[in-house]
Amino acid sequence: MKPKIPTSRPFAQESLISLLPPFIFGIAMLAITILVILELSPIRDPLTRLILSAYGVLGCLYLGFYYYFYRTSPNKNFFAWFNAIVSGLALGALIYFVPPDFQGLLYTLIFIGALTTSIISTRAPAYFFVACIALFHFINYWLNPIRLDEWVTHLGLFLSALIVAEIIQQVKSLTQSQIKRLEILNEVSQRIVSTLNQEQILTLLNAALQKVLEADSYYIGVLKGDEIHMQLFYDEGEYFNNVKIKKEGSLSGRIVETQEKLFIPDLQVENLKKRGLNFKLIGTTKLSRSWVGVPMRGGHINGVIAIGSYQPNRFDQSDLELLSNIAQRAALALDNAYHHERVQEEARLDSLTRVYNHGYFIKSLQEQAEACKLNGQPLSLIMLDIDHFKRYNDSYGHQVGDQVLINLCRFIRENIKASDLVGRWGGEEFSVALPNANLDQALQVARRIQSAMLNFTLKLPDEKEIPAPTVSQGIALYPEESQHTVKLIDLADKRLYIAKERGRNQIEAILNPPD
Ligand code: GH3
Ligand code: MG
Ligand code: MG
Repeated sequence: MKPKIPTSRPFAQESLISLLPPFIFGIAMLAITILVILELSPIRDPLTRLILSAYGVLGCLYLGFYYYFYRTSPNKNFFAWFNAIVSGLALGALIYFVPPDFQGLLYTLIFIGALTTSIISTRAPAYFFVACIALFHFINYWLNPIRLDEWVTHLGLFLSALIVAEIIQQVKSLTQSQIKRLEILNEVSQRIVSTLNQEQILTLLNAALQKVLEADSYYIGVLKGDEIHMQLFYDEGEYFNNVKIKKEGSLSGRIVETQEKLFIPDLQVENLKKRGLNFKLIGTTKLSRSWVGVPMRGGHINGVIAIGSYQPNRFDQSDLELLSNIAQRAALALDNAYHHERVQEEARLDSLTRVYNHGYFIKSLQEQAEACKLNGQPLSLIMLDIDHFKRYNDSYGHQVGDQVLINLCRFIRENIKASDLVGRWGGEEFSVALPNANLDQALQVARRIQSAMLNFTLKLPDEKEIPAPTVSQGIALYPEESQHTVKLIDLADKRLYIAKERGRNQIEAILNPPD
């Protein structure tokens, strides 16, 4: 299951930047510009004066209304284009009514317009706004020619307005991508600390590393002995399993040892040999150029998260910090998962002998039997009981008896496969399930346990050596003798008591069930 991480929630940069100051300033500047022109300019033609007055009043009203509606409207894109067109046309056409001596005021308005338009819209409407005004001015100066130096001044002013618009766009997109990264990081952090499943944590981390950092390769490694085992390894679109590297001399090993971050802008330039390090090629055959690794340390986790790119200088300080952040949270989550797993494991085990307890054994036996049935394989079950254990305890004490139980379980484990199950059925009775084992193989296991007990001696507190008690065993076969695990257990148990009746230290495995 791949947990989903939101990719593109609508980014409300508008709510982060207060539009009130530029709008108030815009209204004030428009009003002042018109008043100054009306008062000080030589324009006496009543129609032009009326047009200018109307510009002032309507312009101020437009800005006021626009500010109000824009803030509350869900369709910001429509409003952005609407404003670019209306303000572009209106401010552009104003050049025809403003006398040349007052054009400085007009350019102040154009700058405020470019600034505000850029804040509220994306690149296209902002550029349209500047281009629209430039076109009006160009036509005006074409019809009313000006000197070359004046052309250059006007061009410079327009380029400056364009640069202002562009810089605002770049700042916005930078902020936007940073916010998006933090949003993803926040989401991942919340999710990884709320899951206790290691697989799920790794899936979430994988998704976060993919989305947040532009890395060609990345890995999460955990220190085990003198090796670093990759829990997750991704390189150029491929995932690799069971990747291990030696701690000694590796970049990851250095991080695990020193608990310090490593930031390598270009591996080709960096002299790793001089620092006693080498870069081992893992994953695909392509060599990384940039490399960043951070420690991932928790109570029971000592590891590293690293990212790489085939391009030099691909990562920066913010990537390093973000990776560190991810690593801290990953360590916490993986540590929690580790503790949870330990608690669960503890609940499945018998506290003295560390084999499965009765309940968990039955559950696992059922699962193993079903798996064997599906694969057309047998499963052998051994029930085992220590002979005259009461007497043994009475003679040598309970603590010696406990040592017998612990060692018996050790012998059982030493003689079975990792996939086989051992459970404490109760007291001094144990059960062993051997999936994929036939009667012969089960008999061999039973004999090995029998002889291990016969050859085992225990030391009493007074250094006296005493032999271990013997064991009696009963074997039953699934599905040959019974398709039901409960009946299978019953059968093995009956045979165990036949073994006892036959004089103990016996193995009973006849295929015809006794009556
Ligand atoms: P049998 O050969 O017929 O099985 O005889 P037994 O004495 O082994 O059988 P019984 O059921 O009479 O006694 C089982 C003994 O196992 C009783 C109890 O003292 C001992 N026992 C059970 N659990 C533990 C344990 O955790 N530690 C120790 N030391 N002894 C235990
Ligand atoms: Mg017994
Ligand atoms: Mg018993």
